[in-house]
Amino acid sequence: MRIHRLDPDVVSKVAATEIIGSPVNALKEILENSLDAGATNIEIAVKDGGFKLLQVTDNGDGIDQEDLAILCERHTTSKLKTIKDLETMDTLGFRGEALASISHISHVSVVSKTKQARTATRAEYEAGKMTSQKPIAGVQGTVIAIEDLFFNTPSRVKALKGRSNEEYQKILDVVCRYAINYAGTFSCRRDNSGQPYVIAGATAKDKIRRVYGPSVANDLIEINLEGDESIGLKSVSGYVSNADYFSKKGANFIFFVNDRLVSSEALRRGIQKLYSQYVPKGAFPFVFLSLKIESDRIDVNVHPSKREVRILDETEVVDTVVAGIEHYLSNQDAGRKYKVQSFIASSSMPISSVDRPTSAQKYEHHLVRTDPQQSTLTSFARTPIKPRENINLPPSDEESSESSSIPPSNDHQVLEFKPMALASIAALKQEISDHSSTKLTKIVTNHSYIGLVDVSKSLAAIQYDVRLYLIDYHEMSLHLFYQIALTDLANFGTVSLGDGLAIAELLEISGKDVKPPPMLLTMAPMLQDYFRITIKEKDDQMVVTQLPLLLENYNLPVARLPDFFVDLAQLEWADEQKCLGGICMALAKLHQPVAPSASEIETILNSAKRRLVATNQLGSSIVEIANLPGLYRVFERC
Ligand code: ADP
Ligand code: MG
Repeated sequence: MRIHRLDPDVVSKVAATEIIGSPVNALKEILENSLDAGATNIEIAVKDGGFKLLQVTDNGDGIDQEDLAILCERHTTSKLKTIKDLETMDTLGFRGEALASISHISHVSVVSKTKQARTATRAEYEAGKMTSQKPIAGVQGTVIAIEDLFFNTPSRVKALKGRSNEEYQKILDVVCRYAINYAGTFSCRRDNSGQPYVIAGATAKDKIRRVYGPSVANDLIEINLEGDESIGLKSVSGYVSNADYFSKKGANFIFFVNDRLVSSEALRRGIQKLYSQYVPKGAFPFVFLSLKIESDRIDVNVHPSKREVRILDETEVVDTVVAGIEHYLSNQDAGRKYKVQSFIASSSMPISSVDRPTSAQKYEHHLVRTDPQQSTLTSFARTPIKPRENINLPPSDEESSESSSIPPSNDHQVLEFKPMALASIAALKQEISDHSSTKLTKIVTNHSYIGLVDVSKSLAAIQYDVRLYLIDYHEMSLHLFYQIALTDLANFGTVSLGDGLAIAELLEISGKDVKPPPMLLTMAPMLQDYFRITIKEKDDQMVVTQLPLLLENYNLPVARLPDFFVDLAQLEWADEQKCLGGICMALAKLHQPVAPSASEIETILNSAKRRLVATNQLGSSIVEIANLPGLYRVFERC
């Protein structure tokens, strides 16, 4: 077959469809032009997902009337002059290609007025050329209208047919993201519908609240990181969700580099990995970050629609950002931990002596595995984990899914004293702090989970620093749940047992000769108030209808219920400290896992990471089995 020269019109259309793949690409280009022109009020109108009309009205600088003739010619721009300018580009556009491309595949019209011009001018374009121009009345700013996008590229129209809804959502998404990063008011109107969607607000957080709702905005940490000159990172600011935020819908990452909306796979991966250590599996963060980087260290010209930028020393930049966010997250975590640690305030172990991960932490690609998401030993284990023996409780009611953040309910008799102020509870906490071990707490706080080792002996492998440990998670969970019970007293989440379980029957199942103690009914208000254990009399029987759930997303092992009531039946009710301590211990035993799944063990270990003050009694439950320096000496390699 012979080679022939392509018709320039075909070349233009091919080039145009490469830059403008769908309406959202065109919208992004004209929106960026408005932002480059310094606009603070931007109104967008979209018809039929942008296929029929995309129109942006701004109050920016406007276009000089004499420039309108070449506005849509290829490579006409007011932003770039020499190739050197590319190194210091601080505008979003620079190639002078967008409007030219768009004009080859749609009908473009422009109305614009600069501050100096006496009137506005309206101009129309086809295939890069201006076809008409006339003065009209207008205010400062620019209106760009793109009609019938892809009218002359039938294959593209076919590929995007019936996608008007999706396209509109994509457009709205880009508008919202820009609105969050830029000051000013943005509005988006669809198919001439009544009210436009307006995104306004004094701060980025206000706009995040507007777009993503209070459930996101209320759980945000403001990030402000100083830069690192050595890698050209000038500053990092933004908002990220805290460890309490819980979205199952998927992560929301919004990255701006030098005020340019970009997608960065490296940043996304690094941050997602970090969050996996702080939030339960299946929960995703919300992240909005604005990075300012020396412009000569980024290359903005690597992607047709400028979606990506190339950053010099990207790995170091990502590490610095991730470590910075980690600092904020772990501080929040220390705040939470204070609840547990408050009772050791007078102890020999100051909070600061517990290593929280700091920016000096090593990351996965720096030799030591720290990411619990990575494949773990369990993925290779031959012995299948036994199926759960316990019957799961009915799904917890809505309230219980909120766990410890739920305030104690008020629908019962209010007792005179505040539980947290109880001297008996304080004494029990003091007992823990008297026996706390800084070394063991450090290991638990900073560990990475490796995998299950022996289910029958409840052993898991964890790593701390360069050492490998075996941990008896069964024993550790007893300490953890006991401490949670003491600390969260009166603030537990709950599990509803529906119509209730007869306590006499549970005691019978236990096989021990114990009768339901009447004290349980006498003390029912206290049990309800402090422990959220609801015990009632029903048809002459004592029934339990609600139990506390000490850990969110945890299945209470029903198999332990009979023993739980045996423990309650044996309480010394007359001694406040022994009584409350006994109930906390009974609750801890009730929560100890029975044939747990790997993910439940991870949930427990993650919680221990945040909350456990390890005492010396755990000494025999956390045993070092190897250390890397030792192994290096043996194998002389890493
Ligand atoms: P680029 O943005 O890469 O320069 P474009 O094709 O997007 O190329 O735009 C060409 C030129 O048109 C811009 O350089 C700018 O001077 C001008 N322009 C486009 N839109 C606007 C606007 N909304 N306000 C002011 N000037 C604009
Ligand atoms: Mg542009």
